[in-house]
Amino acid sequence: MPKEQGKGMQDMVYLEETKFMKRILTGDNTTGKLHLGHYVGSLENRVKLQDEYETFILLADLHAFAYPKYVDQPEVVSQSSREVLLDNLSVGLDPEKVTFFAESAIPELYELASILTMQVSLPRVLRNPTLKEEIKDKGLGDNYSLGFVYFPVLQAADILCVKADLVPVGEDQLPHIELTNEIVRRFNQVYKADALKEAKGMVGRVKRLVGTDGNAKMTKSLDNTIYLSDSAEEVQKKVMSMYTDPTRLKVTDPGHIEGNPVFIYLDAFVKEEDKNKIQEYKQRYERGTVGDVEVKRFLVEVLNEFLEPIRQKRREYETQPELVDKILKEGTEKVREEAKKTLEEVKKAMKINYFND
Ligand code: ATP
Ligand code: MG
Repeated sequence: MPKEQGKGMQDMVYLEETKFMKRILTGDNTTGKLHLGHYVGSLENRVKLQDEYETFILLADLHAFAYPKYVDQPEVVSQSSREVLLDNLSVGLDPEKVTFFAESAIPELYELASILTMQVSLPRVLRNPTLKEEIKDKGLGDNYSLGFVYFPVLQAADILCVKADLVPVGEDQLPHIELTNEIVRRFNQVYKADALKEAKGMVGRVKRLVGTDGNAKMTKSLDNTIYLSDSAEEVQKKVMSMYTDPTRLKVTDPGHIEGNPVFIYLDAFVKEEDKNKIQEYKQRYERGTVGDVEVKRFLVEVLNEFLEPIRQKRREYETQPELVDKILKEGTEKVREEAKKTLEEVKKAMKINYFND
């Protein structure tokens, strides 16, 4: 039962609490499983803020079809929705507090997005640096759909339909939030309304995590990822073949720390009490007194220690598919009600709410 309709005391308390809470909206494309980049870019902040904000997390399954690679892969998109939900639950998001929803199941959201397309020029959308970067990284050339260009506007509708205050995201998403806020200001000014609300982006502890190949971004498209659901053996295999410092030919050559993904991951995932060990490794690496293999073995340990509780929680949810389905269904129903309300206000402001008062 959705939390608002609950009759128990606990639900009443929940309702009272959320009434005055600010809101978070964020989410992930359902184009595969989530990786360490997603964790430091956004998931970690979601977990930290779930008690402070009323949190909405979307499975961006419509967005997934915007990519030519996935448009004819419905099984992958649908399976990924399940994986992404499990990934979010496995890092410690509490379904009692957080609302998960499927973008594709909220028609009001597409309606809102369609209205928003009229509030922004096509050249403005095409100037978006993240869109340009995606075209390049994903090798799209000029072979992208109209839906792909519309992508940031659909994302604006995701944020606006629940009137989010804060959007925890990786750095690459900030231009989309900027565009969203431009649309909000224009809409509210033109229609003399306050139906839409500006939101703030919040970038994670690591703005953009590098890939295992040394590329500036860990991304599925470049196959340079370590997934949150990777087994200990997979992690070991990936780490042992990771890119390090290409200028270092022998163990005795002084190595470089800066931009070296092995050290970037160590810094990002080590436990507080092991931080001094990293300092030691860094010094020895720079002096040429430790080999890549030894440092990588330490990284395998660090990552597996970090990932083990996540794997465990994932297994718990994997054995309860009905519960996972229920979490998504109830969350989606709740967001649909929110989206309906926002859409009504938007239509009223535009004087096209003919059949509602
Ligand atoms: P991929 O590039 O692997 O396909 P994605 O960028 O398409 O992933 P999204 O669903 O767009 O995945 O991203 C979900 C969230 O995770 C966004 O806020 C995004 O900025 C963040 N994110 C993704 N990759 C990274 C990364 N390497 N470093 C930091 N944040 C990231
Ligand atoms: Mg992306």
